[in-house]
Amino acid sequence: MVNYKDLGLVNTKAMFAKAITGGFAVPAYNFNNMEQLQAIVMACAETQSPVILQVSAGARKYANATILRYLGQAAVEYAKELTGGKGLPITLHLDHGPDFDTCKSCVEYGFSSVMIDGSHHPYEKNIEETKKVVEYAHKYNVTVEGELGVLAGVEDDVKAETHTYTQPEEVVDFVGKTGVDSLAISIGTSHGAFKFKPGQTPKIRLDILDEIVKKLPGFPIVLHGSSSVPQEYVKIINENGGKLQDAIGIGEDQLRLAAKSAVCKINIDSDGRLAMTAAIRKYFNDHPDHFDPRQYLTPAREELKKMYARKNREVLGSDGHAPEILAAEGK
Ligand SMILES: [Zn+2]
Repeated sequence: MVNYKDLGLVNTKAMFAKAITGGFAVPAYNFNNMEQLQAIVMACAETQSPVILQVSAGARKYANATILRYLGQAAVEYAKELTGGKGLPITLHLDHGPDFDTCKSCVEYGFSSVMIDGSHHPYEKNIEETKKVVEYAHKYNVTVEGELGVLAGVEDDVKAETHTYTQPEEVVDFVGKTGVDSLAISIGTSHGAFKFKPGQTPKIRLDILDEIVKKLPGFPIVLHGSSSVPQEYVKIINENGGKLQDAIGIGEDQLRLAAKSAVCKINIDSDGRLAMTAAIRKYFNDHPDHFDPRQYLTPAREELKKMYARKNREVLGSDGHAPEILAAEGK
């Protein structure tokens, strides 16, 4: 068993406290390989942003749990190297923990935060499962995210046909009974790259968010499924042999509004997948004779870094907030 503190990671407490008062959200970027990790750390070092590195159960299966634990530690050391020794506040977080055992395993492997997603269970069972994880994780100061309401869409092993919006009247009861540190809610964001068909106007139900914030003032709220599906990447992919169906994501202007409120963490995964795939497809089309992975992964990593740096500045508003969180952590 390794404690996250020994790896130089932080839990989400101080970063969410600053995000609430500072009117920004912490980016939660998914990763499952070295190039994605490098791009995330480079972008956050350049923008002086805190960051939540997210790993799904599927990513652990893909990359191997031991390798991911060392990649988390590598992120801390690499961030120091890029910032003249100062470092960045970095959380290693389990995304959509399916059960207690997976959450427990992540705590033992040095994760500083876990999500237990009991949203597919009936309400009482969700409370029971979430409470069990909270009681275990808090012994090690690991923070816990729960979920109420179900998002539509597909992400790794998580899928649902339609939205079930979070009911504001359940929120206070759920948080009180489980002791979670943050709560993912369903207000119209959606998992995956094919969220909405062109012609539909995806709208986040900011009215539901407002109601939840009124009931739980100052409590950290999390938005999943918040990729915007940049049309320039879809176009590059399809111009270079890809066959993605038309799709649109969540408008960045709406996410910016959410980030200014009690939303402290915004999850972005699909946009990163699109950025890398667009760069790689274009590279192969331009250089059909190349076959060294470094040749095509370099522009892919660069594109990913550029996009994340822009998201930090223009959507999350997390740029420049790393030093105050490090200070709050006593680092
Ligand atoms: Zn999610």
